[in-house]
Amino acid sequence: MDHNKIRVRFAPSPTGPLHIGGVRTALYNYLFAKKQGGEIILRIEDTDQNRFVEGAEQYIIDAFNWCGIKFDEGVVEGGPFGPYRQSERKGIYQKYAFDLINSGHAYYAFDTGKELDEIRKSYESEKKTFIYNAIERKKLRNSLTLSQEELQSLLNKDTPFVIRFKMPANSDIILNDLIRGEIKVNTGVLDDKILFKSDGMPTYHLANIVDDHLMEVSHVIRGEEWLPSLPLHKLLYDAFDWKAPEFAHLPLLLKPEGNGKLSKRDGDRLGFPVFPLQWKDPKSGEISSGYREDGYFPDAFINMLALLGWNPGDEKELFNMDELVEAFSMERVGKSGSKFDPDKARWFNHQYLITKTDDYLAMLFIPILKSKKVSNTDSTFVATVIGMVKERANFIEDIWDHSSFFFVAPESYDPKAVKKRWKDTSYDEMHQLKLVLEGINDFTSSNIETILKTWIEENELGTGLVMNAFRLLIVGALKGPHLFDIVAMIGKDETLNRIDKGLINLGRKETINI
Ligand code: GLU
Repeated sequence: MDHNKIRVRFAPSPTGPLHIGGVRTALYNYLFAKKQGGEIILRIEDTDQNRFVEGAEQYIIDAFNWCGIKFDEGVVEGGPFGPYRQSERKGIYQKYAFDLINSGHAYYAFDTGKELDEIRKSYESEKKTFIYNAIERKKLRNSLTLSQEELQSLLNKDTPFVIRFKMPANSDIILNDLIRGEIKVNTGVLDDKILFKSDGMPTYHLANIVDDHLMEVSHVIRGEEWLPSLPLHKLLYDAFDWKAPEFAHLPLLLKPEGNGKLSKRDGDRLGFPVFPLQWKDPKSGEISSGYREDGYFPDAFINMLALLGWNPGDEKELFNMDELVEAFSMERVGKSGSKFDPDKARWFNHQYLITKTDDYLAMLFIPILKSKKVSNTDSTFVATVIGMVKERANFIEDIWDHSSFFFVAPESYDPKAVKKRWKDTSYDEMHQLKLVLEGINDFTSSNIETILKTWIEENELGTGLVMNAFRLLIVGALKGPHLFDIVAMIGKDETLNRIDKGLINLGRKETINI
């Protein structure tokens, strides 16, 4: 086995949909490993049966498939260190818990949940906090206070017990974090964490350390919320006499306003997803929005996440996955949290949208056109339209707002624009303009433009007046790309029809009531 090999893992608990903070953690693991030719594992930490949520594991797998983070080993890929689902590794952990008892680093505790609750309450009534630690453990029912006979008799009677870590009473330990540097902690503030539960399952702490060791994980890169567990984890490695991996705790993703962790509620409140894919809660049926369903491109999503907490050290903002792998380094991950910026997320999507080919975008847009019962969904036509409007869109869905008039005649006319731009002379001018258009055989944008400009000049008409009125009839509003491009695209017949229809709808200025 190559002991210098970089091996990282992403180890989610399938307790619900994966937050984008979790996707970012997985991404940084991936980038870190791939940059150094290492491997990344997907391990499912499902030892807490009470928190099991149906569909959550599949959601995690689907989310990574969508955004292009590929694992070398894991629940789907398999691999030489499997199984990769902790519930399938149940039999492995007990031995390690007993090893720690034998080496004096852990002990049996027989206190029932009810007993501990009572102690906790009585402490609270005296405004004190109960911590199961080096001082308190002396007063409680555990293998450190019971006699050998009492202990044996309880064990013989199959009395339920947990195994707790024997946290040193008062010693300074030095921890190292790749992002935060050296951290000093006194064990006096820590409690005797449960390692093994009475239901025969390990807790997160034990299973996590045992698996990281057995799976030869070299670097643990995870969210900052796990930093408080680091002292215990380091002490567990020492207790087992195992080499600890390197640790990096990533700063939080913060609310757009700055303070506090980005939560689902912020997303609902400000109208952006905090999950990669849409999630339907299996119990309540509640639906949470996802980046995929909201129209984000996976590469834009990944690019946006990569820059939330890491920076390349220069102005470059657009990176595909290979470029991220190339540019990534842990030294450039910031120490403080990064504010999530929904506008920037949309900006990234726009940047990716405009670089996609018109044909590709047309393929994605045609189903939307079909859902709107548009008759002309010819892919060449659609691709040409997209080329003309994509600069204005952030999402595929937006393209409709910017291009509907290429596909359907306006049903209504923007009242503000009518009020401002449909003048006394407009009806007659548009009528004249229609006659001019009727005479044009070469109905291309540049030819129409040349002929109409000459006509405007010769008749001493106002270019602005004519063009705005003409646009109103064709588009229904004062928006859209170059008008001659639009009429050339929709063709002569449709252009003439829209003028007829508009003249009827808008009529002479004095006859409309506005
Ligand atoms: N199962 C833990 C979680 O849900 C893993 C934490 C870690 O990476 O050590 O985040």
